[in-house]
Amino acid sequence: MILSDDILNIKKILAQAEVSYETDIDLQKFSYFCSGGIAKLIVYPKNFDELRLFIEYMCSKKFEFKVIGDTSNLLFLDDLTYGVFLSLKYFSEIQYNAEAGVIRAQAGAGLPLLSRKALLWSITGFENFEGIPGTIGGGIFMNAGAYGPEIKDCLIKVYGIQSTGEPFELTTDEMQFAYRESFISKNSGKYIITHADFIARRGETQRIFDRMELLHAKRHKYQDFLYPTLGTLFAGTEIYSAIGRNDKKYTMMLKILERLWFSKKIRRERPMNKRKLNDFVCRYFGWNFDIKPFSDKTMNCLTNRGQHTDKFIEYIELLRAHLPETARLENEIIQDNLYVDQ
Ligand SMILES: Cc1cc2nc3c(=O)[nH]c(=O)nc-3n(C[C@H](O)[C@H](O)[C@H](O)COP(=O)(O)OP(=O)(O)OC[C@H]3O[C@@H](n4cnc5c(N)ncnc54)[C@H](O)[C@@H]3O)c2cc1C
Repeated sequence: MILSDDILNIKKILAQAEVSYETDIDLQKFSYFCSGGIAKLIVYPKNFDELRLFIEYMCSKKFEFKVIGDTSNLLFLDDLTYGVFLSLKYFSEIQYNAEAGVIRAQAGAGLPLLSRKALLWSITGFENFEGIPGTIGGGIFMNAGAYGPEIKDCLIKVYGIQSTGEPFELTTDEMQFAYRESFISKNSGKYIITHADFIARRGETQRIFDRMELLHAKRHKYQDFLYPTLGTLFAGTEIYSAIGRNDKKYTMMLKILERLWFSKKIRRERPMNKRKLNDFVCRYFGWNFDIKPFSDKTMNCLTNRGQHTDKFIEYIELLRAHLPETARLENEIIQDNLYVDQ
């Protein structure tokens, strides 16, 4: 929690040091999911010195703040006024050192850009990240991945600064990566990633291109591109079967309907659409929504059709009540880092 006077003091320090910032940001316009109230302050350091100055000041005053990437995994709530966010959007360089066989990427650069630069340099291992929205920092934080490969598979070292102001370096082993998890996500708020080194393995340009093109097309088939969305809600969970796992009748009907509606012969190259299946699930469990909170392509993904964020929380709780306890919420609901007007 941060007070209005604290914000004034932070702004004074930032202005003196000529660090860029924005105030009173409407998160519905700013965030990837187009949700949320107001953020009082977003700070945009342009280099390591500015970043360090900001962090050391916040640490000395014990002020709370949260680092953000492209916010593609964050659910900001409509009724909340948030305090201070740190954005590394100016940490956006990606460089290739052919002699060392290393790509060094700054935390604010996009994963799709990293993937495309790797294609230009004929480097393989980054093809699968082309369609993951988000930054290098956000991707490393949660060990992003798609179709098998994850960030950890091509990472050498992560660099950054702790919330205490101390620099840090962590090797892939020290990052303790697991499925959509890392040492940094387990210690959320304590480590700010500034850049990372990746293995640059030479590949055949055409093969890299073909793989990226294929995965790009696949993604358009099963991912909502029209309404604002977040990534998968419950990571690694096949929610259609999991929500009715103890109900034999539901399980049997689901199997038949999936065969019927999603047979490759019928569907061929049409975009994946699970509307009928979603309708069946809602009817079966007696779920009614004035406006659907999930994607027509999968119920395991929030879709913003303009409703209040309370409706998304209700939907998440509804799913949680039906899913096994082991199902882990992958989207991050931002409920702290709040602002208080004195
Ligand atoms: C349409 C869509 C498709 C997606 N597909 C995939 C997919 O295929 N695979 C996948 O893994 N994910 C996927 N996601 C989820 C998400 O995009 C990724 O996980 C992405 O890596 C999040 O990055 P971000 O920059 O948006 O992070 P944010 O959402 O801004 O932040 C996520 C977390 O990372 C932390 N963080 C961000 N930057 C830093 C930093 N520099 N230092 C320390 N911590 C930091 C934040 O504090 C926050 O806790 C998808 C999301 C969407 C909307």
